[in-house]
Amino acid sequence: MIPFRWVAAADEPSALAAAAAGGRFLAGGTTLVDLMKLHVERPSTVVDISALPLARIEELPDGGVRVGAMVRNSDMAHHALIRHRYPVLSQAILAGASAQIRNMATTGGNLLQRTRCYYFRDTAAACNKREPGSGCAALEGEQRIHAVLGASDRCIAAHPSDMCVALAALDAVVRLRGSGGERAMALTDFHLLPGEHPEREAAIEPGEIVTAVDIPPLPFATRSVYVKVRDRASYAFALASAAVALDVRDGRVREARIALGGVATKPWRAREAEQALAGQAADASAFRRAAEAAFEGAVGRPGNRFKIELGKRTVVRALSRAGALA
Ligand code: SF4
Repeated sequence: MIPFRWVAAADEPSALAAAAAGGRFLAGGTTLVDLMKLHVERPSTVVDISALPLARIEELPDGGVRVGAMVRNSDMAHHALIRHRYPVLSQAILAGASAQIRNMATTGGNLLQRTRCYYFRDTAAACNKREPGSGCAALEGEQRIHAVLGASDRCIAAHPSDMCVALAALDAVVRLRGSGGERAMALTDFHLLPGEHPEREAAIEPGEIVTAVDIPPLPFATRSVYVKVRDRASYAFALASAAVALDVRDGRVREARIALGGVATKPWRAREAEQALAGQAADASAFRRAAEAAFEGAVGRPGNRFKIELGKRTVVRALSRAGALA
C-alpha cells in the first residue's frame, strides 16, 4: 500500500476542512481500502468519518424516512420502518455483498461505491474511468458484467449497487453538505452517465459530504419487490435486477415504480416501462410489454447481449411478484 496521512475527524467541520484540503472520506472502508490495496485509489490523506453523528434512521413529518449517511447497510435493512414501508429496499440491501460487509458498509459509502469492471481494478489495463484518456479495455474485452443501458464509447461499466436501485424506484433524495451549505438532489440525478467523462461518477463536489438519504412516503411501496439474478446465490453482483412497486386497484395498475440494476451505467429508473403499465390490466402480457419498454434503446455487445433478454425476464418476474401482493 502507498503511504498516506490519516485524519480522524471529530466533527463535521473538521471533516469538511480535511476534505477541502484534498482528503478522501473513509466510512466502512469496504470499497476504498480494497482499491487502495490495488493502487487504483491513491489518496494522500484519508479522513475517517466514523465518529460523525450521522447514523440515525428517523421518521420525517410527511411520513417519509431519513437515513443518515453513516447508517450501516445491515441496520437499514433490518430497521422496522424500512422493512414495513419499503420492503424493496430491505430486500435489495440483503441481496448485496455478504453479512460481514453489510455490517461495515454505510449508506453514504454504498451511494458512492465504484464499479466492479475488471479493467478498472487492474492498473495494467486501459481504463478511461481510472486514467482519463487511456482508453477502455472492456470495449474489446470481457463484457459479461457490463452495461447495456446508458453506456458511451468511453465506458460501459455497470453500476454495482443494489441499494441504489431500490432508492431510485422510491424517488429518494440525497442530502449533501459542504462549505457552501446544504443541498439536496434526486438520487436519479446524483449518479452520472459516463458520456465523455466516465471518471466523474456522481454529482458531488470536492469537499462535500453526503449526510443522509430521504425516502418520501409511498403507501403502495408496502407491496414492493426486489429481484436479483446473479452468477452465485450470494456474495455476487447483479447480472440483472429489478426494483418494483405496484399500485393495483380492481386488477388494473394505477401507478408503477420500476428501476433496474446490473444492466446500466447508473441505477436506472425505467420511466417508459412505468408509463407502459399505467392503466393496464396487471397481467403477464402487460408486464412483458413494460419489460420491452424498459429495454428499448439497450445496446448489447458480444459479451453482454444476453443481458437484454435476461433483464426483461427479471422485470417480468419482479412485476409478477409485486402484482401477486396487491
Ligand atoms: Fe474503465 Fe469503464 Fe472501460 Fe471498465 S468499462 S475499462 S471502468 S472505461
